[in-house]
Amino acid sequence: MFRTRFAPSPTGPLHLGHAYSAIHAHDMAMAAGGQFLVRIEDIDTSRAREHWEAQIYDDLSWLGLRWPEPVMRQSDRTAAYAEALDQLWDMGVLYACTCSRRDILEAASAPQEGVPVHGPDGLIYPGTCRPARTAAQRDRPVAATLRLDVQASLMPDDVFSFIETGSGPEGETGAIRFSGRQVISDIGDVVLARQSMAAAYHLAVVLDDAAQGISHVVRGQDLFEATKIHVVLQRLLGLPTPVYHHHRLIRDESGKRLAKRDDARAISAFRKDGVSMQELREKLAL
Ligand code: GLU
Ligand code: ZN
Repeated sequence: MFRTRFAPSPTGPLHLGHAYSAIHAHDMAMAAGGQFLVRIEDIDTSRAREHWEAQIYDDLSWLGLRWPEPVMRQSDRTAAYAEALDQLWDMGVLYACTCSRRDILEAASAPQEGVPVHGPDGLIYPGTCRPARTAAQRDRPVAATLRLDVQASLMPDDVFSFIETGSGPEGETGAIRFSGRQVISDIGDVVLARQSMAAAYHLAVVLDDAAQGISHVVRGQDLFEATKIHVVLQRLLGLPTPVYHHHRLIRDESGKRLAKRDDARAISAFRKDGVSMQELREKLAL
């Protein structure tokens, strides 16, 4: 069964890039006789707003999309996230991190030659808080920033893979293989929980896709590199790896990526201007 999802965060209006992603996922599901789900990624409660969620449903309906109710909302999944964090903590692959953004910037500003500085989450964490051996005997700290100790999670010679039916930013497609060594050097110790959040994106997305039985993840190319950390987490947690389909990003005339605050390109703005759903699809070359 082909089952995919569109997973917006209700922190602003949906723009053209979201419309492209949602329609793309929906059309692929329909063509395969499968299912298209909507999931509300409202884990960051400091930024999520109910009126944005309402607007998301309204815009998606206007785009002609239909999905089963009720939708999954991350704010209802705190217990599932805590359980997975406990599991990882007991495996000894998590540690608490107290670094500020500035601490990380300073520690990373004197990199060794040839060591990459940027990963999918920005600066690769320089490991300041990583314990010599991640201790698992204490209780997991709650309301703390927790990082995945990738060196404790995998071996450099481990091989990971996933199937890409779209393409990454460099045209990567087909069977994508990568090593534990690459995860250590190019991704590093990503954050899986934050003080104010039940789980960080990487953990929540992996758990939610598994809980919803997602067979195909359709999303923008900006998340291609992050998929590697998702595959590592799936292996650690014993979850299946879906097929991934990363699509091109919708850019404005100057080639810049559309940002959420770019309200001029909000779907609602096109609707207000009297643009039809068909015209919008044509604009996106869908
Ligand atoms: N909430 C994420 C976003 O808006 C979804 C990412 C994903 O599809 O995995 O980018
Ligand atoms: Zn730290």
